[in-house]
Amino acid sequence: MTPLEQEIRQIIETEGPITVSRYMQLCLAHPKYGYYVTRDPLGQKGDFITAPEVSQMFGELIGAWAAAVWQRMGSPLKVQLVELGPGRGTLMADALRASRALPEFRAALAVHLVEISPSLRQAQKRPLAGETGVQWHDSIEDTPTGPTIFIANEFIDALPVHQFVKDFDGWHMRVVGIAGGKLDFVVAPEPMPKDFANDAPAASNGTILELRDKGPTAVVAQRLARERGAALIVDYGHTGVTLRDTLQAVRNHRYADPFGDPGEADLTTQVSFGELAVRAKREGAAVHGPIAQGEFLRRLGIEARAARLKESATPPQAADIDAALARLTAPDQMGELFKVLAIADPKLGPLPGFDR
Ligand code: SAH
Repeated sequence: MTPLEQEIRQIIETEGPITVSRYMQLCLAHPKYGYYVTRDPLGQKGDFITAPEVSQMFGELIGAWAAAVWQRMGSPLKVQLVELGPGRGTLMADALRASRALPEFRAALAVHLVEISPSLRQAQKRPLAGETGVQWHDSIEDTPTGPTIFIANEFIDALPVHQFVKDFDGWHMRVVGIAGGKLDFVVAPEPMPKDFANDAPAASNGTILELRDKGPTAVVAQRLARERGAALIVDYGHTGVTLRDTLQAVRNHRYADPFGDPGEADLTTQVSFGELAVRAKREGAAVHGPIAQGEFLRRLGIEARAARLKESATPPQAADIDAALARLTAPDQMGELFKVLAIADPKLGPLPGFDR
């Protein structure tokens, strides 16, 4: 049994079952044993690979997107580029390199990274070594206000969700307790807390509903409803409400039991882009998309970028570029499952990649 499982069992024994949200929070972000706190989970040797780790083209195109958004913002003399959950810093390094194509934008930029993991903060320093003035923050609330472009790739999926189950007498919370001697889902007897009732659709008995904690996306939407800027959110997920249990554990590139070894596996759930959109609009922000990642990257010119890179590549390198292009955009790879949504200042109007 992992030390974190011992601690979770103790909490359940003294306080009763805990919410799925608290379980995810403990597994991922516990200050001593949390999955992200204790390791660098990315890459071949880690547990999973993300788009910026597949190819430099991903971060470069996002850098070009940010530059175009900055122009639509009226080219302010100072703008913050805030990345949420920057992993190894690869996306930010590639974006900054691409942003040199627009020197005025490059000169206006201040880089802020929101990261809970001390080991990933260390990893982020390497690719950003030439960058002065990078600031790290524990949470988005700590980032300064003012004109801002937010980037979040595979960040939202790691934020805790609540689960509910529909019974004949209404919705109840699905919580984590101890059943048959092991950690497992149990149903709380009390009705669903009032805060969530607004977001619960009509559903048949036995349906499971997932709703994410409001958290960072609400903060982003509130800020962008009042200030100039936009947020680009890229993640795996779907456009509707999540009416099933999507809690997923991944370890060594394989699916694992979410209750198996708490703290040792990555835990995520599918992002409901519909839910993000409804909540962002409720805060007064504008929403663009969601559209499929493959389509978004093609509109930003990924095919031309790949062709350009291949001009100076050896044949094996050219094959790698083609493979990366397919991985990021093909419908049976990341192209359809991953989606892109922007939350923005309503005064900005259409945004690159979303308008045609
Ligand atoms: N964006 C990166 C990494 C994705 S993994 C990429 O695409 O490669 C998720 C990232 O979010 C990690 O950097 C992790 O440490 C960070 N993270 C997870 N939960 C967080 C939280 N609550 N607050 C801040 N960072 C968090």
